[in-house]
Amino acid sequence: MTFKVTVVTLFPDMFPGMLGQSIMGRAMKSDLWELDIVDIRQFGTGKHKSVDDTPYGGGAGMVMRADVVAEAIRKAKEANPTAPVIYMSAAGEKFTAAKSHEMAKLDGVILLCGHYEGIDQRVLDSLVDFELSIGDYVLSGGEVAVHVVVDAVLRHIPGVLGNHDTLSEESFENGLLEYPHYTRPESWEGRDVPEVLRSGHHANIEKWRSEQSLKRTKERRPDLLKSD
Ligand code: SAH
Repeated sequence: MTFKVTVVTLFPDMFPGMLGQSIMGRAMKSDLWELDIVDIRQFGTGKHKSVDDTPYGGGAGMVMRADVVAEAIRKAKEANPTAPVIYMSAAGEKFTAAKSHEMAKLDGVILLCGHYEGIDQRVLDSLVDFELSIGDYVLSGGEVAVHVVVDAVLRHIPGVLGNHDTLSEESFENGLLEYPHYTRPESWEGRDVPEVLRSGHHANIEKWRSEQSLKRTKERRPDLLKSD
């Protein structure tokens, strides 16, 4: 099965970008996922293929037009008919590890990128299934957020990561941050690799790692330990 990602954007040249490199690039070459781009500009109106206009009610910035964006979304739905339409938005539901797992179970996603002040609310009400935010800050466009979301989701698609065991110990997978890692050299600028990791005693290593994991989480992200 190929996970199908369709991105609706004003900036097609931003893709595949870093999603075409390293692990995700290899996975794409192996057909574990595919990327289609719908260029919103193609559906612009008038001689200048205009995609935005000034906001009703006044105020700064430009708003992307409902009619133009709707055409682009409909084109994406034709290419990827079973996928939900997701608008990348600072006002959306927060993207988390749990959400990335849920999304990886789908056949694919359509990801809509806003720019400028955002998109006319009517097209969001009409054609978008849900909105997703990558954090409490404002980006200039949804394209950066798409890179983040697609990378995090594809990690859960079988075969994308070479060694599937590594995934279960990653930060957030068990509600904790991951333990620290060490490699050669054994001693570096007066700092030694912890003794236990060199002992070859697997039970002790496992115990040390889970203690470190818990300690870090307590120190850095106590919010993760609170049951909700
Ligand atoms: N006026 C909007 C911000 C527009 S930023 C507001 O105050 O909420 C332009 C575009 O960047 C948005 O349409 C959205 O697609 C994207 N974007 C900005 N911040 C984002 C975030 N935290 N997560 C996901 N997408 C974001």
